[in-house]
Amino acid sequence: MKDEATGYSIENHPLMESLRQVETEECLAGVLDPMKNRSMAALCLLLAATLALCLVSTLAKLQQIDHPVNSDSLRFLVIGDWGRKGQYNQSKVALQMGRIAEELEPDFIISTGDNFYGSGLTGTDDPAFEESFSKIYTANSLQKQWYSVLGNHDYRGDVEAQLSPVLTNIDHRWLCMRSYIVNAEIAEIFFVDTTPFVDKYFTHPGHHTYDWSAIIPTREKYMSTLLKDLDSALKESTAKWKIVVGHHTLRSAGQHGDTQELVKDLLPILKADDVDLYINGHDHLVQHISSLDSKLQYFTSGGGSKAWRGDYDPEKKGLKFFYDGQGFMTAEMTETDAEIIFYDVSGSVLYKWSVSKAYTAM
Ligand SMILES: [Zn+2]
Repeated sequence: MKDEATGYSIENHPLMESLRQVETEECLAGVLDPMKNRSMAALCLLLAATLALCLVSTLAKLQQIDHPVNSDSLRFLVIGDWGRKGQYNQSKVALQMGRIAEELEPDFIISTGDNFYGSGLTGTDDPAFEESFSKIYTANSLQKQWYSVLGNHDYRGDVEAQLSPVLTNIDHRWLCMRSYIVNAEIAEIFFVDTTPFVDKYFTHPGHHTYDWSAIIPTREKYMSTLLKDLDSALKESTAKWKIVVGHHTLRSAGQHGDTQELVKDLLPILKADDVDLYINGHDHLVQHISSLDSKLQYFTSGGGSKAWRGDYDPEKKGLKFFYDGQGFMTAEMTETDAEIIFYDVSGSVLYKWSVSKAYTAM
């Protein structure tokens, strides 16, 4: 069964897991009630056993969502660092995203994190969710599935709220998980929770409070398990394009520069497993950097609202393009070719880059 609005298999949607849990809780209550009949009890046991198997499977690997693409090409938009209730040109960028999406007809939209400034959401009832998301990205062309990751600012609020199916009930487009995979046939997209990797949030949090409640049993174990699961999933992938999305930079000429923890721990996996693109936010700009020793290409799309002008390193090795203003990114890929475009706040094309696997294989 596919959701007509979003196009992906609803059986794999995390919401279904929640619904199954509710069903099972009701069933288990039935088992305890002697008035319930035997067939109900049998159904409950079957559901409980199925759930136990699902739980083992989700613990063992990253959750995967199938998002079939009904054409020869996969098309998506990427926006990051955006949630400011329309301010700092967020609304202007959203307007142009809607205009470009009308032409592109994207399959979905990716958010690279820092979804809600300055400190994530206070809960599932935080009006900022609608004020920064539902009421901003209003174009018909943007009524697609959004796949989001968490940024460091999101970790300063109620993280579980952003991950909750309650938000998906408020706006059916919303889906945010810590780390997961979207299988879009032509490409597989691996979303990685990068914030727990960054030492300074733990050692020098300043006046900020981060919600590390789910980074268990220890930070080290959380990171090592994630990297192991990512490595396995990348190795198993047979997709033509492997794309990894995280909030933090791997390579950047912007204010934050490279994220050393990710360069040390994540980058070797991406190179070893033939990842094509790493896409991030965090620096409030759009940029393209080429790897000097692999096919990996680094794209930053973090220009969703507030931008920082003039704070960058023009001598950065591998730097192909840099624009320190607001903007967003589009991608269109077939089995052999990919084209990435950056747009600015007025919807003008800033930069186009394309690559052909047919060509690079020669
Ligand atoms: Zn950030």
